Amino acid sequence: MSKSLQAIRGMNDILPEQTPLWRYFEGTVARLLDNYGYKQIRMPIVEFTELFKRSIGEVTDIVEKEMYTFEDRNGDSLTLRPEGTAACVRAVLEHGITGGGQVQKLWYIGPMFRHERPQKGRYRQFHQIGLEVFNLDGPDIDAELIIMTWRLWGELGIRDAVKLELNSLGTSESRGRYREALVEYLSAHHDKLDEDSQRRLKTNPLRVLDTKNADTQAVLVDAPKMADYLDDESRAHFEGLKARLDAVGIPYVLNPKLVRGLDYYSKTVFEWVTDKLGAQGTVCAGGRYDGLVEQMGGKPTTGVGFAMGIERLVLMLETLELIPEEISRQVDVYLCAFGEEAELAGLALAERVRDQLPNLRLQVNAGAGSFKSQFKKADKSGALYALILGDDEMAQQVVGFKPLRGQGEQQSIAWDALAAHLATCVVQG
Ligand code: ATP
Ligand code: MG
Repeated sequence: MSKSLQAIRGMNDILPEQTPLWRYFEGTVARLLDNYGYKQIRMPIVEFTELFKRSIGEVTDIVEKEMYTFEDRNGDSLTLRPEGTAACVRAVLEHGITGGGQVQKLWYIGPMFRHERPQKGRYRQFHQIGLEVFNLDGPDIDAELIIMTWRLWGELGIRDAVKLELNSLGTSESRGRYREALVEYLSAHHDKLDEDSQRRLKTNPLRVLDTKNADTQAVLVDAPKMADYLDDESRAHFEGLKARLDAVGIPYVLNPKLVRGLDYYSKTVFEWVTDKLGAQGTVCAGGRYDGLVEQMGGKPTTGVGFAMGIERLVLMLETLELIPEEISRQVDVYLCAFGEEAELAGLALAERVRDQLPNLRLQVNAGAGSFKSQFKKADKSGALYALILGDDEMAQQVVGFKPLRGQGEQQSIAWDALAAHLATCVVQG
């Protein structure tokens, strides 16, 4: 194929053989979120560039080098959203739905765009399910977010393959004091830091903690610890969160170097990480951002949220071979009809059955064909049963009912009794 007809690097098609797994994953999450009382919000994929600069922070990887930014026909600078929180905050402010302390528990799903180096688990268009809670400031809601994801891992069967890392960045006051101490320490070891960290020391010193450079990591061993700088409020919040995780029995590891890539976090930060995906180990990440709404021009409004990467979680289910068998079957029953008269009767019969069994996945053969070819298609569809309408069946007003997987003889079922019969042998979603 000519080069111009290829998809953009790092932007993937999700092909029909993959969509059942995506829909299973998305459906499982959506059901959980419903059950915990979260409501879906849908935001545009494009926003004014300024929104992301103001919320994510000018000196983050995302804003510095990962955004898809362009000028539209009006000359406005627009950006394909690299994450969901900024747009969600903009939306709640614009519509006034967090005013007066109104609690909002919101979730969203959709594509995000970052110009990163594509590799396994890292793409330029990827998909997140994210969630934001406004106006609940206690550790109980931080705990709920984590408990809910723990339940999700349980339902997917991946609890043993993920680990919860936890840290507190404290209130902005305690983080400010810590930043000062860290800058003082790192400045004293300036020459031993890698170039990126030297730069970050000036622009965003906390991000130095995040470095992958071994020399800088060695310097960090004796660096001041955030935990020693938490004020009473931050400490109580963090203890409150840990107590709740302990009560539910969720294991966690404290990681004092966990700072997260975005500027806006405060107090709780967490990541669910796995060693099953190579370098792209974080499958879900989030934290509290009590200052963000105000920073974006709203009244003081606390917030906490997370986002999970759908590609990485789907990849995990594939890698660990945890794809439920039933999701790959997309047809329950396949109707074969031979001859024009049978075809017309079959269509009408199929619609009657669908009236009575709206969840039945009934496929009617299209394109006619011989007995042999229709049977081949029925089998290939993955259906459990074939329904057969030929001359004999037409004469008797019955349909042949033939199990395609495993045992069982073909039977004749009267047209009027077909829906009732199917209801007893096909488990419907
Ligand atoms: P990473 O450290 O892997 O770059 P991040 O801190 O930039 O992740 P977040 O902004 O916190 O990621 O996004 C939340 C989640 O979205 C990540 O934990 C990951 O699962 C997923 N994610 C982020 N960037 C990508 C990407 N380029 N491709 C696929 N998934 C991604
Ligand atoms: Mg990143």
